[in-house]
Amino acid sequence: MKNIYSNILKFNSKNLIKIIKILKKNGIICLPTETVYGLGGNAYSYIAIKKIFEVKKRFKKNPLIIHYYNLSHAKKDVILDQDFYKVYKKFSPGPITYIVKKKNNSRIRPIACANLKTVGIRFPKDKIIRKLLKKLNFPLAMPSANKSSGVSPVKPSDVFEEFSNKIKVLDGGISKIGIESTVLNLVGNICILRPGIITPKQIEKVLKISIKISPKQTTIKSPGSLKKHYSPGIPIYMNKKKCPDKYAFITFGKKYPVTRNSFNLSKKSNLSEAAKNLYKFFRNIKKKGYKKIYVTKIPNEGVGIAINDRLKRASK
Ligand code: AMP
Ligand code: MG
Repeated sequence: MKNIYSNILKFNSKNLIKIIKILKKNGIICLPTETVYGLGGNAYSYIAIKKIFEVKKRFKKNPLIIHYYNLSHAKKDVILDQDFYKVYKKFSPGPITYIVKKKNNSRIRPIACANLKTVGIRFPKDKIIRKLLKKLNFPLAMPSANKSSGVSPVKPSDVFEEFSNKIKVLDGGISKIGIESTVLNLVGNICILRPGIITPKQIEKVLKISIKISPKQTTIKSPGSLKKHYSPGIPIYMNKKKCPDKYAFITFGKKYPVTRNSFNLSKKSNLSEAAKNLYKFFRNIKKKGYKKIYVTKIPNEGVGIAINDRLKRASK
């Protein structure tokens, strides 16, 4: 049996040096963030970016999010406006990605952005990833550390399930948030391209405009909005009141009885707790051998918008 632990690196100064070395030599590595685990590489390196796309089997037109330590690093590559500064001040570092204009002399490799003139930038909050970013003189291109269209990993053993011994994983424990960042488009019509834990209402309060979740997109603006995504690989049926015993039943709130096949996202009806449990349940259910997943109705408000978005795409 493969030894999973030989591949998982504990966070300490020796391993931090090891990881920096890997990244400087155009290598890639799985890293923790507060949302989900990412597969990171030097955003200025063509070789590293190519590896990320290959390992993930990612569609070339799906741009990567570029992760920075702070604004002075980001300013070298992107153009930032007043709206950006308002949301940045309120929400970053944190679980939100901003789509902004790329500078002409930006060093970000065009393939990292699928040759678009825009870039998705994020300033993650997780302490470990911040310690690493602070020590690097380049930003990290970092999509979620899973094979394309699958479920994002929220702990080191999930990452191991995706890539086995191929790629090292830095252990940062369980991701605090458990679903991917909110993607906010700030170029042209301001809108949310992917809902997340930071909700439209919170952004509206800061920008003082109405924020819509992007309707159908003609070109691929944000492939996180591609229809099939986040899928555990078995059929999912939403808005179900009951579920046959042989299928897994994902529930929410206290009115559902505890049964052998039920998985309650949050007995307290807390949507953030539900978001954190969602991918964990997808993986557990699959491992237990269930062939179908039924899900009860999840309130479509606040963080529930992001949960329903993932469920909808996972059920395609
Ligand atoms: P992930 O692969 O899970 O990290 O998701 C990255 C998300 O950010 C996807 O939905 C991408 O489409 C989106 N994204 C990254 N860069 C851009 C960009 N320049 N324009 C629009 N969406 C972007
Ligand atoms: Mg992803």
